[in-house]
Amino acid sequence: MFELKQFLQHQKDLGLYRSRKVCDGMQKPEQVYDGKPMLSFCSNDYLGLASDKRVAKSFQQAVDKYGVGSGAAHLINGHTNAHHALEEEIAEFTGRERALLFSTGYMANLGVVSALLNRGDVVIADKLVHASLIDAAKLSEAKLLRYQHVNIDSLKMRLESHQANKKIIMTDGVFSMDGDIAPLPEIVKKVKSNNSAIMVDDAHGFGVLGNHGRGCIEHFNCNKDIDILMGTLGKAFGTFGAFIAGSEALIETLIQASRSYIFTTAMPAAIAEATRTSLKILQNENHRREKCQALIKQFRQAGKQLGLELVESPTPIQPIIVGSAEKAVAMSNQLAEQGILVSAIRPPTVPDGTARLRVTFSAAHTEQQVDKLLCGLESLM
Ligand code: PMP
Repeated sequence: MFELKQFLQHQKDLGLYRSRKVCDGMQKPEQVYDGKPMLSFCSNDYLGLASDKRVAKSFQQAVDKYGVGSGAAHLINGHTNAHHALEEEIAEFTGRERALLFSTGYMANLGVVSALLNRGDVVIADKLVHASLIDAAKLSEAKLLRYQHVNIDSLKMRLESHQANKKIIMTDGVFSMDGDIAPLPEIVKKVKSNNSAIMVDDAHGFGVLGNHGRGCIEHFNCNKDIDILMGTLGKAFGTFGAFIAGSEALIETLIQASRSYIFTTAMPAAIAEATRTSLKILQNENHRREKCQALIKQFRQAGKQLGLELVESPTPIQPIIVGSAEKAVAMSNQLAEQGILVSAIRPPTVPDGTARLRVTFSAAHTEQQVDKLLCGLESLM
């Protein structure tokens, strides 16, 4: 085996060493980590559905019916009527002809881009898109061009700089480390004339934005202009997995050519059944989105008064930029000593010099818990 210790030491020296905490119990704001009770502000369970009893019950009932494992890939014999029904319900919810389930969002992104593009094609991506979209572009062997974050002039320059048969313009709907929302109407306006496809990864907007939780497409009322919509089920939906939604031709193409769809075991049917229940709940229980918004408002108003360096984010992702990786880690550790869990996000996940505390809110938090977080942050100033 080749030498790895030097790499590990290097990561430590730079303050970039990553390690895991062991959590006990359900995904909720109050959890036990490494044996210590903590108040957590780092989950993507934005609507508090990961521990919802109705979702859990659907899962348990489906395990009684389908068993645990799905046994094989969708194209062999892993595709049950639970998966099929969920795909139809997501297609209807998103107002698209079809939807296709993937085992994770990472795989959905890899699978769609590498199925649609080849060498000679072009991907144009916002500078801050999620790592899985960058990996997707690399896997496809298309030329990858980046435009300045949410900067339409920069996008225009990139669009005009390369001729190619096929171009995909990619953006997160809600940016995972900044919480801001991509300016989809402006992107659509610039790209429409250019014979290109627009792909939106709405992992953090789906379920959260829009009056019915349809995400960015509902927030901007721009559904018909987005060619490829990716959503994840492990965040606001509280379960696991992901989907691509789009035209009949897009989904059939993915079934034929998407390697991360074809060559992997289907998600368990019980996950699909649990997700069907989440979908019903999040359509009917608008109060979850309203509660989350109220907590965000409470945090931002008080945070500004404290002088925290907040980003212009209207979503449950509320980063506090602190600069160096060491400082972010030290602040996260100091909060942990007070029983508050907030992740320090460091390069390469975010650009150098923009290490941050990434606070996330859930409808499961209370106002008192947000106050406790604010007190903790004040003690660090
Ligand atoms: N896209 C974005 C924007 C994400 O934040 C994530 C997960 N953090 C993914 C894709 C990957 O989704 P999954 O966790 O389901 O693989």
